[in-house]
Amino acid sequence: MKSGSNNDNKAKAEVFVAASLADMIELGIYITAHCRKCGHWKRLSPDGLGIALETTIPALEGKFKCGICGSRNTCAMPEYKRPPPNGG
Ligand SMILES: [Zn+2]
Repeated sequence: MKSGSNNDNKAKAEVFVAASLADMIELGIYITAHCRKCGHWKRLSPDGLGIALETTIPALEGKFKCGICGSRNTCAMPEYKRPPPNGG
């Protein structure tokens, strides 16, 4: 009886699966595009971008052009809904 090499005590790597545009649509979450140059940001609907829905949020880096300064030094992130401060 072979025990094989399943005795792997390495800590499990935390695999972060990047959310895609399709995930955002499914969750009803908007994304926000941020300009690193001037700080401008804009909320965008993930299904109105003309970008493949399997594109992940980190892959949107540099995809947007800032409407204020024209820079492509941009990134995107999900606009997670936060609970109101002080419980409302
Ligand atoms: Zn800008």
